[in-house]
Parts: sequence; structure tokens; C-alpha cells
Amino acid sequence: MPKTADHRTHLVLENYIGGKFVPFSRHIDSYDPSTGEVYCKVPDSGKDEVELAVAAAKEAFPAWAAWSPSDRAQVLHKLADLIEAHLEEFAQAESRDQGKTITFARTVDIPRSVYNFRFFATSVLHHTTECSQQDHLSCITYTIRSPVGVAGLISPWNLPLYLLTWKIAPAIAAGNTVVAKPSEMTSVTAWMMCKLLEEAGVPPGVVNIVFGTGPGAGDALVSHPEVPLISFTGSTATAQIITERSAPFCKRLSLELGGKNPAVIFHDADLEECIQTTVRSSFSNQGEICLCTSRIFVERSLYPEFLKRFVAAIRLWKTGAPCDSGNNNGALISREHLEKVRGYVKLAVSEGAQVHCGEGVDTLELPDRHRGGYFMAPTVLTGVEDASRCMQEEIFGPVTCVTPFDGEEEVIRRANSVRYGLAAVVWSRDVSRVHRVTRCLQAGLVWSNCWLVRDLNMPFGGMKCSGVGREGGRDSYHFFTEVKTITVKH
Ligand code: NAD
Repeated sequence: MPKTADHRTHLVLENYIGGKFVPFSRHIDSYDPSTGEVYCKVPDSGKDEVELAVAAAKEAFPAWAAWSPSDRAQVLHKLADLIEAHLEEFAQAESRDQGKTITFARTVDIPRSVYNFRFFATSVLHHTTECSQQDHLSCITYTIRSPVGVAGLISPWNLPLYLLTWKIAPAIAAGNTVVAKPSEMTSVTAWMMCKLLEEAGVPPGVVNIVFGTGPGAGDALVSHPEVPLISFTGSTATAQIITERSAPFCKRLSLELGGKNPAVIFHDADLEECIQTTVRSSFSNQGEICLCTSRIFVERSLYPEFLKRFVAAIRLWKTGAPCDSGNNNGALISREHLEKVRGYVKLAVSEGAQVHCGEGVDTLELPDRHRGGYFMAPTVLTGVEDASRCMQEEIFGPVTCVTPFDGEEEVIRRANSVRYGLAAVVWSRDVSRVHRVTRCLQAGLVWSNCWLVRDLNMPFGGMKCSGVGREGGRDSYHFFTEVKTITVKH
């Protein structure tokens, strides 16, 4: 139940609406995942706060839309510089709030948040529209693009500031104003960013942040009639609710959802590089990245050697206090999530699977202060049937399943036999095979002989239940603008 905030002992967040912090009386507890203790109070906003934020965003829209793209770009650059100047504070806060290691926050989350603003500040300057001549009719037809209005942005807890800025930056660069709702479990860095908006020159009302739960603040945003577009990153289950709630208003939706991502490893893979990368792709950020590998298919002739070396490499992957820069993994987001992830391992074991390392096999040595934290060691399962829930459902934690395969046709069929289609990895030195297999895999993103190499210009998103639409340089610009086709007879 929401409680009155204790201002003496906890960090207390406030909504940011119309360029001002707005104090609020009802709060949600936010936990430090590495200790299991409440350390922060997040506003439990609802309809009224969303109403105020939408009104502020609506009022700010015409003036902001009229700014030149290069003037807007200057503001985004300034905001990027300010976040970068406070990088260490942001990294410390993200690590504490989410449970991820300080190293990951320092090298991935916050630098990428900075880069999101820089990238969209420059990319928005280079878009052109289309033109078609019909000289025989004395007509010329061209398109124009305009910002849509107030964009509703909803983001998850795994990469908090990284994914929020991935939405805010293209939305405002294109001239929209926004009402954003970060995850109630990881709201701190969004609130810290609000403190920099005025100095960056963001006019009041252009960026509004309303904190709260999904069914509270999130639903109010999705079902607000004056928010014509929603960009959502989160689970497939929530996306289904958002789709239903926004349907009466015919809203434009961008949905970036879950995955059950395969890695397909052929006998001719560069094994050393493949193992190092597959450890990272399976366990980075505690396995709490939508792009993490969770099903590893290994060609049968390579399977025994792969498994032995993979498990040995995982034993070097350290899980412990997030503030210790020697650790590779920190804590999972919440006690409920930890129990859910452990539940999948229990289920697999009850179905006859073997656990090669991690849960139930290895003990974590944790400092006293972190005994109540939500830690789990990287876990490898074998002997899991393709039809098992562990091979079909998104676990979103440090668990991966390894299984042998015989032949291309079989592995393509099995890799595609899930409802998700976000990402896949193919390991082989045979160029023809790489092109053949990558083409057949049902995934919006396929890497070969690497993982998580990103060019923000390129489309990002999933097939099947992993999403609707794409994000990235041109795709985000198209999502956050309305196109109009104009024909002039001369
Ligand atoms: P979630 O769906 O529970 O929550 C995501 C956001 O939606 C949160 O801000 C939450 O408060 C809000 N929300 C929840 N119910 C809502 C409702 N009824 N109306 C409006 N908003 C609502 O997801 P999560 O647990 O925070 O994040 C993990 C999920 O996100 C995983 O499935 C993961 O794969 C996915 N994810 C996908 C991508 C991608 O780019 N495809 C990236 C990161 C995470």
C-alpha cells in the first residue's frame, strides 16, 4: 500500500510538470535490490497528475514545434553535456536503484543515455522528404512531416535512463512534447535528469515526467484522449493491455517487447570468441536485457566441448555487490522477480533438466550488507525440452538453456518455434551459411559472430510477440512525425 513518505530517511521523488517539481503526498516504496531495503519514495501518481502533465505538454507544443530543428538540437546537445558532466552521480544512482553493477551503469547505461541525445540531435538535421513528378499531368506531389503533439512514453526497469532517453530524444528532436512514465521500480535517474532540463534550455512543458505504477499513471496516460501516440518498452503482457486501452482512440503505437532469443552455434565457429561473447550475451546486466540469449543451440559435434568451456568461462563471471567494480553482475530487480526466475530453474529440474552451474549448485559469497539482496548466480540448464516453459517463456534473468542440434533445417525450425522474435545470434565462419540462416530466423535483429553491436541509424525492434514497429534514426523520426502527401497542379 502507498504510504506517506518519510522525508528524514528516504530519497523522496517529485513529479516534474510544466518545468516545475510538484510535491506529492502518496508514495510507492522503492527498494535497493542489493540490500532488500526501502531507500526511496516514488510518487504514486494517477489521473489528476497525468491530466496536469498532458495540459502542460499541450500548451508547450505549438511553440516548441515552431523552433527550428537546429535550435532544438542545441538543447539536446546541452542536455547530453550536462548528463555527461554528472556521469558518475547518474551511474551511482542507476546502480543503486536497479541493482546493476556500477561498471555496467558507468560504461553502458549513462554513456548511452548521453549518446541518445547527441545522436538524435544530429540525425534530426538530415532527414529529407519525398517528391514525385507527374509532368504529363502538370502535377508535382511531395510529402511533408510534422510533429504529432503530446507523446506518451512508458519505459521499463532494466535499462532505466538508457531506454527513457531513447524515446525522449527522438520525440522532442522532432518537435513533439512529452509526458513520460518510467518504471516505478527505477525512477531515480529520470528524476535527476529533470533537475538539468531548465539549465539545458528545455522550455517548461516540453518534457514532463509523471511517476507511478502501470495501472495508475501508465493507464491514465495510455487512455488520455489528447495523447495521440504511445511509445512503450516493456513486457508483451502489458503491451496487450496498452493496445486494448488505446484502441478506442486509434492511437499510434510503438511496442518494444520481450524476447526468447536463440544463439545458433555451428561446428566451424570461432569457439573462443563465441564462448566469451555468449557468456556476455546470456548474463550481462543479470540477464535482464531484452536482447539476452536464453536458448543456445550447439551443433552436436561441438556440443560437449562447448558446454565444458562455456561453464568454465561462466565460473569466472562474478556476481556480488554492485558497487564493487570487480563484479560482472549485481542483484536482480526485486524479490518477486528473483523468485520468478528461480521458479523456472525449479520447474526445469522437475522436468528432468540438469543444472551445470549457478542456482542450487554454486553458493554466492556476499558481504553482510548484501545478504538481503536479490542475487542469483549465472545458471546453465541442459536437457530442457523445446516445449518446456523454460524454452518458451521469457525468463529475463541469469538463466540460459543449452541444447544440441543436427543440421541447419532442424535448428532454424527449433529456433523459430517460440512466440517471440526479437534477436538472434549465428556463429559460423561459413559466409554462405551465415547469410542463409540469418535470413530464415524470425527475429528483428540478427547478429553473426558478434552481439549487441548497434548502429542507432538502423531499425531496432521485434517480430511476432516481440513488438510492433521499429525505432532508430529514420524509424523513430517517422514514428514521431505525421506524414502528409500534397499534390499541386501547376
Ligand atoms: P512491464 O511491462 O511490467 O512494465 C513496463 C512499463 O509499463 C513500466 O513503466 C510499467 O509501470 C508500465 N505498465 C505496466 N502496466 C501498465 C499498464 N496497464 N498501462 C500502462 N503502463 C503500464 O515490463 P518490465 O517488467 O518493466 O520490463 C521487462 C520487460 O521489458 C521484459 O519483457 C523485457 O524483454 C522488455 N524489454 C524490451 C525491450 C525492447 O527493446 N524490446 C527493452 C527492454 C525491456
